[in-house]
Amino acid sequence: MKLSASEISSVLAQQIKDFKSSAEKSNLGTVIEVGDGIAKIHGLSGAAMAEILEFPGGKTGVVLNLEEDTVGAMLLEENPELKEGDEVKTTGKIMEVPVGEAVIGRVVNTLGQAIDGKGKIATKKTRLVEVKAPGIIERQPVDTPLQTGIKAIDSMIPIGRGQRELIIGDRQTGKTAIAIDTIINQKGKNCLCFYVAIGQKASTVAKIVAKLEEFGAMDHTTVVAANASDPAAQQFLAPFAGVAMAEEFMHAGKDVLIVYDDLSKHAAAYRQISLLLRRPPGREAYPGDIFYLHSRLLERAVRMNDKLGGGSITALPVIETQANDVSAYIPTNVISITDGQIYLESDLFYKGIRPAVNAGLSVSRVGGAAQTKAMKKISGNLRLSLAQFRELEAFAQIGSDLDAATKKQIERGRRIVEILKQGQYSPLSVVNQTEIIFAANEGYLDDIPAEKIGKFENDLFEFMHANYAKLEKEINESGKLEEQTEKDLRNALEDFKKGWNE
Ligand code: ATP
Ligand code: MG
Repeated sequence: MKLSASEISSVLAQQIKDFKSSAEKSNLGTVIEVGDGIAKIHGLSGAAMAEILEFPGGKTGVVLNLEEDTVGAMLLEENPELKEGDEVKTTGKIMEVPVGEAVIGRVVNTLGQAIDGKGKIATKKTRLVEVKAPGIIERQPVDTPLQTGIKAIDSMIPIGRGQRELIIGDRQTGKTAIAIDTIINQKGKNCLCFYVAIGQKASTVAKIVAKLEEFGAMDHTTVVAANASDPAAQQFLAPFAGVAMAEEFMHAGKDVLIVYDDLSKHAAAYRQISLLLRRPPGREAYPGDIFYLHSRLLERAVRMNDKLGGGSITALPVIETQANDVSAYIPTNVISITDGQIYLESDLFYKGIRPAVNAGLSVSRVGGAAQTKAMKKISGNLRLSLAQFRELEAFAQIGSDLDAATKKQIERGRRIVEILKQGQYSPLSVVNQTEIIFAANEGYLDDIPAEKIGKFENDLFEFMHANYAKLEKEINESGKLEEQTEKDLRNALEDFKKGWNE
């Protein structure tokens, strides 16, 4: 068929006449493409960013892309029945999760639904998953310690309440172990805990929950789990859901600890969603706003000022590296967002130095202000001896003749490495940590064979508890090592060594 010039002009004239200039808002749309947890929807011009959409059967999704005629959404639940042509409605709501006391001790998914078989989460209170982080004026500096109970960390890489400390290392280097021990150590310390599991196997998460239960830590802990088999949308939103629940307590003036295990898998989930939505890929195929995603999450870790209740959220994000490569995209991003990192190394781990903390590369940029005076005093020496030992260790292996002073430093270093070893699920009090580190610094361990140090340590704690409870109490309450206290501690150590036999 051919149109003549006059016909074309009349068609155009008709179209111009019919053209309505005001775009119409519509809250109904139809699915035009669906798959891999993503739906493309025609219509829905009234939809807002991050708005919840309702699919047939009451299933939900979240708006992520607003395009000219279509909307890209991620599906929050498995939705195998969803097909092209299905109707979609906007709800006018932004995603929220249930919050309050009811979530404590529970295992929930990203939507805040119980997945521990212990019945519904009984609360009507909810909070928005995405909110702006508190500004500068609302905050105050970090000055209260958050004890992990792990000697190597509390002494050399102290963490304060409201801080963000990254746990980074290759796979199977004990990253989760540090987070779990820290949660266990918060028992009775007035700090609620949230463990957000992202992209892990359901069986791994079940094991973690069982361990937390075994050590009585579920009483103050909530687990938010978005497992590897859950939709990518849930894995992507899980940390935001977790921190929203944490904020409820933080705004009530409480201290909260939140662990994101791990943000590498979180980044991968976000990359998956973004690529499916055809957002342009950037470095390592991650979308350009991945830095912003992690920074707005971690900025929500905060210590509020006293006028606003003085509550805090301490965040321990976890990052898994490949072959110790901390200069990959996601590791460098998160290193630069956090206030320090605990760097774990597989070499150390296989050598039996566990926790496998590399003291040289690990740092806490604000926690020092939160350390007790006693710990601060003794930990300086500790770092120095350890660094010297690492320098000299190489010489010792060559086996050349060493002068007495060098030999002594090496032996001291060996013992310090020994006392910094610590089994899982056995967090130590600050007093115990102070005692053993003091003993090592002052040379009380120099004549003890390195392989006997574990036993020495345990016996010492028992002895101190039985015979020097008053001294322990004083160190605990004052947090200081004054001259007199130091003298008393020396006496106690000599007293113990006299009666101790290997
Ligand atoms: P993944 O990369 O798989 O998440 P991860 O880095 O989180 O691993 P964990 O699961 O915490 O590592 O620990 C790995 C293994 O090492 C576990 O079997 C754990 O029991 C053991 N382990 C961790 N810390 C210690 C420790 N301090 N002493 C002894 N064993 C430990
Ligand atoms: Mg782990």
